[in-house]
Amino acid sequence: MLEIKNLHVKLEEEDKQILKGVDLTVEAGKVHAIMGPNGSGKSTLSYVLAGRDGYVVTEGGATLEDADLLDMEPEERAAAGLFLAFQYPVEIPGVGNMTFLRTALNGQRKARGEPELNSADFLKLVRAKAKELQISDDMLKRPVNMGFSGGEKKRNEILQMAVLQPKMCILDETDSGLDVDAMKLVADGVNALRDAGRSFLVITHYQRLLNHIQPDVVHIMADGRIIKTGGPELALEVEENGYTDILNEVA
Ligand code: ADP
Ligand code: MG
Ligand code: MG
Repeated sequence: MLEIKNLHVKLEEEDKQILKGVDLTVEAGKVHAIMGPNGSGKSTLSYVLAGRDGYVVTEGGATLEDADLLDMEPEERAAAGLFLAFQYPVEIPGVGNMTFLRTALNGQRKARGEPELNSADFLKLVRAKAKELQISDDMLKRPVNMGFSGGEKKRNEILQMAVLQPKMCILDETDSGLDVDAMKLVADGVNALRDAGRSFLVITHYQRLLNHIQPDVVHIMADGRIIKTGGPELALEVEENGYTDILNEVA
């Protein structure tokens, strides 16, 4: 599904190398987790995959189902099935949440040559997904993320994912700022979408989310590289001992 090869990325504004050779392959239907200390480049990796400005790829590349991701505009990546749930979701004044969802969904369908969803079908879809995530009608009516609590913003990211049904879902610390109940809702939302044709890259600081979303593979990222890869037990090891042992072992 997603193949990242020797990806090197620096900032556009200053000569600072952030990703220093990331190699990662996520197979269709699999859930991969990335853990790692603050500042190791996890968010940068997700931004570069999604097409955020301000970064320069100096070496290597990334493909989504064999298509060159880095060659595409952000909206083309989204239409191709890439989705990023932001670590820090932005508020969008003046754009209603429903309008946002509908424009995104129908824009992507159009780009793929699929018919647009009519109002009735769209409403039905959003209402069903919102209910599962305990997102109120009021939150659907308000501008995107305006006045939402931290946890509500994160749940709204998962609502977008549930409505858009992307193939490659990247979640950047969606668990941070969530209480246990909200984390369970988010995990249920992710698990409901698990499918043989859909893959997940779950970036998280803590092991606890991975109690609810069982990963197939766990990677540890530090200083711009994946330094260790293992099974779910690797996340438990981090939970118990922190990153120091792994960092020392690799050094
Ligand atoms: P993580 O998500 O693992 O905490 P980030 O990708 O946010 O890490 O950041 C990796 C490193 O790159 C950090 O040292 C961060 O300060 C730096 N960095 C990322 N984006 C920028 C930027 N736009 N300007 C300056 N430094 C940045
Ligand atoms: Mg961070
Ligand atoms: Mg981050």
